Amino acid sequence: MLDGLAGFFTPWVVTLVVTLLHLALPGRWVVGYARDPITGERLRYRLNGILVLGVTVLGWATLGATGALPWDWLYVHRWSSFAGACTLGLGFSLALVVGAPKVTPRFAADLYLGRRDNPRLLGGRLDAKMWLYLVGAVMLELNVLSFAAHHALSYPRDPSPGVLLGAGLLTFFVLDYLTFERVHLTTYDLFAERVGIKLGWGCLAFYPYFYAVALWSVVDRPNPGTATALYAVSALLFLAGWSLSRGANLQKYLFKTRPGASFLGITPEVIEDGQRSLLVNGFWGVSRHVNYLGEVLMGIGIALSVGYVTSPGPWLYPLYYLLLLVPRERDDDARCSAKYGELWRRYRERVPYRIVPYVY
Ligand code: NDP
Repeated sequence: MLDGLAGFFTPWVVTLVVTLLHLALPGRWVVGYARDPITGERLRYRLNGILVLGVTVLGWATLGATGALPWDWLYVHRWSSFAGACTLGLGFSLALVVGAPKVTPRFAADLYLGRRDNPRLLGGRLDAKMWLYLVGAVMLELNVLSFAAHHALSYPRDPSPGVLLGAGLLTFFVLDYLTFERVHLTTYDLFAERVGIKLGWGCLAFYPYFYAVALWSVVDRPNPGTATALYAVSALLFLAGWSLSRGANLQKYLFKTRPGASFLGITPEVIEDGQRSLLVNGFWGVSRHVNYLGEVLMGIGIALSVGYVTSPGPWLYPLYYLLLLVPRERDDDARCSAKYGELWRRYRERVPYRIVPYVY
């Protein structure tokens, strides 16, 4: 009972630690993409995600090495910890929605999608959206490490290379996000979404637990003896996906911040309507959302990497990306069509595929 309670509050403690570290550790101020609705100025953000992750993981490793906390605590208590994270995420989202001006007449819709665009505290030092993503990323990494530790402790003589590879790819995923935290400022969630259950519960509960589902499904099972070639294919798929996704994000980020600058030797080619312009070459000439294809490939790579190809658990991960990104592309297409009008029509003509070139 006491153990269950401790598990329940573990994500609360991690959230508190991450928040204090985020506020106390040095950070750099950067200009974002979303605007202040009153002044029209672009919002500024204070970012230090990589440092916060490093210090938190160091703290976790110290607790493990000194025996103060079992290495696999978060795996053993995964269900109570997930319940604690859900309660925290729902409570946080509710607190932000109640009392804020209505967006729609339906409370349920407002609760899910949120009412506030960019809630912030301490003069912008604590931005709710970037804080949510930071807590989610750090908690995900702690889960990944703890889940992998559980496997290593359970099968010390013959650990599965798939658990090591899966944990490595997910760690790469977290490090990549935090390294390019600044690029995330130009994404849809930051400029087009509000903070409700979708983002609040999504980042505090869904992201850190569900994204570890491939490991969650297999770490209590023995080494499946999967062929090395399959591990190599999964790593290659993941890296190919990452190149597409990161490449497209960076090309767009550069285009929005320094419009004429070349990216990987590619000079930006654009279509214009006199006021606005859209990229039509490089990653943005392959399909209109090749970055989403990249995310799905990374998901498939992670599902394959853990070595249990016929087990359904790991496949939930890429399936989730499909369910998330296919409708999201449609939403973004409608949004861009309304925003860019004729220019977007020309872009669609020039780059006809939505996500997968020659297929979709
Ligand atoms: P995009 O990065 O694709 O951004 C879409 C926006 O980019 C559009 O609304 C438009 O905004 C602008 N844009 C579109 N086409 C062009 C063009 N040709 N030239 C210039 N600007 C263009 O989508 P998201 O924000 O949804 O995703 C960002 C990243 O996050 C992606 O890599 C995505 O895969 C990833 N992601 C990751 C998730 C995860 O859990 N790992 C979940 C969801 C997304 P504007 O009006 O400003 O021009």
